[in-house]
Amino acid sequence: MKYAVLVIDMNKDFVTGKLKCERALKIIPNIDKLIKNSRKQGNLVIFASDAHMKDDPELRVWGEHGMAGSEGADVIPELKIEESDYIIEKRTYSAFYKTGLNKLLEDKGVNKVIITGLHTNICDRHTAADAFFRGYKIIVAKDCVEAFSDKDQEEGLDYLKKVYGAKIKSVDEIISN
Ligand code: ZN
Repeated sequence: MKYAVLVIDMNKDFVTGKLKCERALKIIPNIDKLIKNSRKQGNLVIFASDAHMKDDPELRVWGEHGMAGSEGADVIPELKIEESDYIIEKRTYSAFYKTGLNKLLEDKGVNKVIITGLHTNICDRHTAADAFFRGYKIIVAKDCVEAFSDKDQEEGLDYLKKVYGAKIKSVDEIISN
């Protein structure tokens, strides 16, 4: 196993629901291509999604979204979860914070993560921070992440590269390696 693909917050609330982002639509086929290829190569696919509870601090900032057990917290149907995939429920921006993600990656002997999903400058960034603190190599699939604006997207990618040494690659570059 070479790496784990983290699919972050590709849930109904973030794509078509309460915090919808039309820009997210164009990354769906790219993520689909990456995860299909990754499974075939024997790599790990992990969906890390908001499953908020009513007093979570984020709700004060964004309002209710991705509530545990709600339809909005479901991964969008275009990205089909397979039996070999893992699902991580998170209550903050980071997919590592108080979830089983680090243990899962350790158990699988994975030291490299590929970040995909929403949003480049928010959950992707905080997940990358926690991955960096724990010594993981980080690749960001640039055509598999999005943000609410061009500026957020560009600054988000730039930050990941500068601060965490993330390699910024397209899906095709990742797949051809
Ligand atoms: Zn959230």
